[in-house]
Amino acid sequence: MKVAIINSSYQGMRPADRIYNLGVDKIAQYHRLRGDEVYAGPWVPMMLGLMDKFYFSVIFTWDLPEMVRQVRMVRDWGKEVEIGGPAATFMHTYIHKRTGIEPHYGLDDRFEHVPGDYCLTFTSRGCPHNCPFCGVNKVEPAALEYDDFSLANMIGDNNILATSWAHQELVVNKLVNFGGEIDINSGFDVRFFQEDHRRLYSKLKLQCWRFAFDSMEVEEDVLRVAAMMRANGLDRHHVTFYCLIGFPGQTLEECHYRMQTIIRLGMNPYPMRFWPLNSLNRKYVAPGWTEGELYNMSMYYQTPYIWMSDSWENFKPGKKIRAVPHEQAILKEES
Ligand code: SF4
Repeated sequence: MKVAIINSSYQGMRPADRIYNLGVDKIAQYHRLRGDEVYAGPWVPMMLGLMDKFYFSVIFTWDLPEMVRQVRMVRDWGKEVEIGGPAATFMHTYIHKRTGIEPHYGLDDRFEHVPGDYCLTFTSRGCPHNCPFCGVNKVEPAALEYDDFSLANMIGDNNILATSWAHQELVVNKLVNFGGEIDINSGFDVRFFQEDHRRLYSKLKLQCWRFAFDSMEVEEDVLRVAAMMRANGLDRHHVTFYCLIGFPGQTLEECHYRMQTIIRLGMNPYPMRFWPLNSLNRKYVAPGWTEGELYNMSMYYQTPYIWMSDSWENFKPGKKIRAVPHEQAILKEES
């Protein structure tokens, strides 16, 4: 059988534009292991007319209108189609109404354990929290721990600290001799993070320690964890805190406060702009905010070089940043 697996969140041709889609790689590997002929990648209709079956995997909801157009074309060719991915779970009805196809909901057991050489791996699924800005519980409603996960440099677990201690030890033991830096990309939950975790994960060559300061409720834990990091000689070069911005109800002042707090604590903030789980484009602006404020805040806090060299009041995107002392310029390259 000839199978095409389309990464519907593959954005452009430049390497920096490409969005890695683990689902695409796993489905491709599943079919390769069965001896099928596989195409996996972006939508290239001229090359795909002879395929027997199509999968469309979509990560972001704003990629759905284009994906729907492609699915309709493939249906007109009379081909079998399956649709999945996080955005297909969030916008199930939207897709069904427009294509007549029932997308796969949540994780797909057929592909969850396919061994392979991937860029990203999940050792666990689920998260015990249910933050109003997050879709993890829709895609991963059950807490699962895997002991057969493929090894990769990037770990996608949404809340690895919510797993058992035995599981976390297993993960570290499996990764400790895996080549290169390890990126626990969703980070560590400050509510759960203790000295034992710091000691355990210090065995890995972490790309950086990632945490989140998404709302004021976790401020006390943020202060505690930042102090623990500092006491162990770790600063903004090693520790990043994701900070949600632009969620309805948040104010500009509160978002500044959280990111300025991270800077004052000697750590690196990373603003994460809120997008509703049903956004069909990237134009959402919460009440009380402007697009300019969200854009400027993202630009300002995303780059240490900028917030180290310019005040927020003085900052204009695109304006020439004044010269910074030599050692700061070097630090910027490391960040
Ligand atoms: S803690 Fe993180 S993964 Fe869990 S629900 Fe909140 S944002 Fe989502």
